[in-house]
Amino acid sequence: MRKNDNGAVISVRFGELWLRGRNRGRFIKALMRNLSERLMKEDLEISREYDRILISPEKAANLERIMAKLSTVFGISRFEVAHATAPDMKSIKKLSSELMSGAGKGHVLRIQSHRSYKQHKFNSVDIVSELLKTAKKMGIDVSNKDYDTDLSVNVTKDRAFISTQRQKGAGGLPVGSGGKAIVLLSGGIDSPVAAWYAMKRGMSPVYVHFHGFPNNNAKELKKIKALADRLSEYYPHYRMYIIPASQFQVSALSAGRSETVLLKHFMLLAADRIAEIEGSHMIYTGDCLGQVSSQTPQNLLSEGQGIRCAVARPLIGFDKEEIIGIAKRIGTYEMSLQPYHDVCSINARNPSTDVSEELIKVMAKKMKLDGMAAKAVKSAKIIDA
Ligand code: ATP
Ligand code: MG
Repeated sequence: MRKNDNGAVISVRFGELWLRGRNRGRFIKALMRNLSERLMKEDLEISREYDRILISPEKAANLERIMAKLSTVFGISRFEVAHATAPDMKSIKKLSSELMSGAGKGHVLRIQSHRSYKQHKFNSVDIVSELLKTAKKMGIDVSNKDYDTDLSVNVTKDRAFISTQRQKGAGGLPVGSGGKAIVLLSGGIDSPVAAWYAMKRGMSPVYVHFHGFPNNNAKELKKIKALADRLSEYYPHYRMYIIPASQFQVSALSAGRSETVLLKHFMLLAADRIAEIEGSHMIYTGDCLGQVSSQTPQNLLSEGQGIRCAVARPLIGFDKEEIIGIAKRIGTYEMSLQPYHDVCSINARNPSTDVSEELIKVMAKKMKLDGMAAKAVKSAKIIDA
């Protein structure tokens, strides 16, 4: 393990994926790969150590920037700055007091300990009680409540890690470990959040966007590409299908109040075909129950007629305020607010809340939506990032 100028490394903990039993190795491999890519431009070394990944930056001055990047990588439950020493009480006490001496006046510390390896002669209680004595001697306040910093000792077989600056990770599973998700991405607030949830559960995104512009190179489409690029902070790769909805719009002119549901059915049919091409089994949408009048249980059922894929709607039970909160946090909100002529907004103003499955079946047959969706997919512009 390489050490930087102050000997600090970042210790990354796996969280949920550690519980994956026989599949654990595959998940950890995916996380290692994603970490290497996310931190590609940094001067550091990444290594695996039993129940954690260690990141050793060349310069301690870069720790903060690296930690900011780490906070966007799924599959990490928490990470912290860790200083390694030998797994014996004397070394642990020595390094801890060095780290404690940096605490300012009135600074309150919490001291915790955990053993990943239990064969040493001392246990966690011994460590904490020794360090409490050290802190007392140094005049440092210690409390489990209202503390300013954590000092946490973790003992493995060959090393003891003493960590500070603990931060919560993004959680979830490493992107790519769950295969691909087809994400219906509009220019709105909701679908980018749905895409984020797809990635959070380990799915790598294949975006599909339908537009009402005369061609696939319309400059207005920059907004959609920008949204996908923003989301790529969480995973750098995506594929995007840009698809004209013009043929649908022409043939749906007489569809009246059921047009919105028919359009969604058409989008899902196309997404289903793309899923087959991409080897995916799942389509994600930003639907939310009752948010707009077209998103009723009946309509969601009807639009999903004959779709092979599982359709995931991760925002189904969220309030708008909650979705906006997440969109702000993940950095897509401001972009979603930019004006955009969405193909949905050109459609029925007063959509029906109760479009039957039978009606969708009949209309889809009459309009030959299946063939139209196949043609639409063929005419897609594909962007790989
Ligand atoms: P959003 O904020 O994501 O646009 P919304 O509340 O405006 O959602 P709708 O316009 O009814 O609701 O769209 C519901 C879902 O259908 C979207 O979240 C998205 O997944 C999909 N969708 C809508 N329009 C498009 C589009 N032009 N291209 C791709 N998918 C779309
Ligand atoms: Mg919309």
